[in-house]
Amino acid sequence: MPDQNPDQNNNDYPSNLTPLYVLGEFGLIDRLTSDIKLYHKETLKGVGDDAAVIDAGEKVMLLSTDLLVEGIHFDMVYTPLKHLGYKAAVVNISDIAAMNGIPKQLTVSVAASSRFSVEALDELYRGIKLACERYKVDLVGGDTSSSNKGLIISVSILGEAEKEEVVYRSGARPNDLICVSGDLGSAYMGLLLLEREKKVFQVNPDMQPELEGFDYQVGRQLKPEARTDIRETLKKLGIKPTSMIDISDGLASETLHLCKQSGTGCRLYEDKIPINPETRELSMEFKIIPSVAALSGGEDYELLFTVSQNDYEKIKGAEGISIIGHMTDASEGKAMVTADNKEIALTAQGWDGMKNDEPGRL
Ligand SMILES: [Mg+2]
Repeated sequence: MPDQNPDQNNNDYPSNLTPLYVLGEFGLIDRLTSDIKLYHKETLKGVGDDAAVIDAGEKVMLLSTDLLVEGIHFDMVYTPLKHLGYKAAVVNISDIAAMNGIPKQLTVSVAASSRFSVEALDELYRGIKLACERYKVDLVGGDTSSSNKGLIISVSILGEAEKEEVVYRSGARPNDLICVSGDLGSAYMGLLLLEREKKVFQVNPDMQPELEGFDYQVGRQLKPEARTDIRETLKKLGIKPTSMIDISDGLASETLHLCKQSGTGCRLYEDKIPINPETRELSMEFKIIPSVAALSGGEDYELLFTVSQNDYEKIKGAEGISIIGHMTDASEGKAMVTADNKEIALTAQGWDGMKNDEPGRL
């Protein structure tokens, strides 16, 4: 899950030490995990995909974990605890869906400061249990602790897949079609709307939040769903994706992950990116290019995947799935073709041409 409020302003570092923000999240993961030794032949895939893959005889087990920290990943001012519990479970379930697996069991660990009551944690668990019911996942353990400040939630999940059905990030080949489920950018616009109304409320507590007409966007931010249905949809169409990832950090970042792990380049087409009409309207109101909300926003928890060109006839009419581009040879680079037919290098922040001032502002 992307950080909504990274603290990059700590200037008190001794000169021989490196502040965390210098490496960034992915740089830090690379550094901490580059020399990990694996001791068991059952560990088929360690760090580097949506979930680890472990040989379990006829099937494989999938294992993933996620951490949510108050003030970084969520804001208690506008996040109901029940929604938060639901989301904490869903973001993990989504990682299993991204491996083309079936989520089965999860554990929940919570650290809460004295600001939180027993009833508050009841509410958090009500949300977690609701997600477990909706996705048929068993809550099988966890840990609780107090925290000096705020609320911290860590969820780990186990999933299962047939050996030949697991989909990695690394399987895409040049000319494969890049597809995405649902629509993108709504969760981010929901977040901006909630942040705006929070500011209004802080200035004048008598003001009621103006969220009307944007239930979908606010819902996508506070109570996302995992696309566990896509596995079945693709199976019925007779398609096995060549690579797959879930969209937690934004379309651009996730596409770059698939390219990096598969050793390909890509072309995305801006006018093919599925964006909800109200999300488009809301982006314009916030003076943000709608495709930037999709490319850089994140937290949509849709699935981004590639399929072979040979499957074009099977996938082209599939409801709720959009073909948004194709993989290329690595030498052709990673780019998006804009609506006015310009090629722009794809970067994790959206695209290079937007570096000046605030990214993606109109
Ligand atoms: Mg993921």
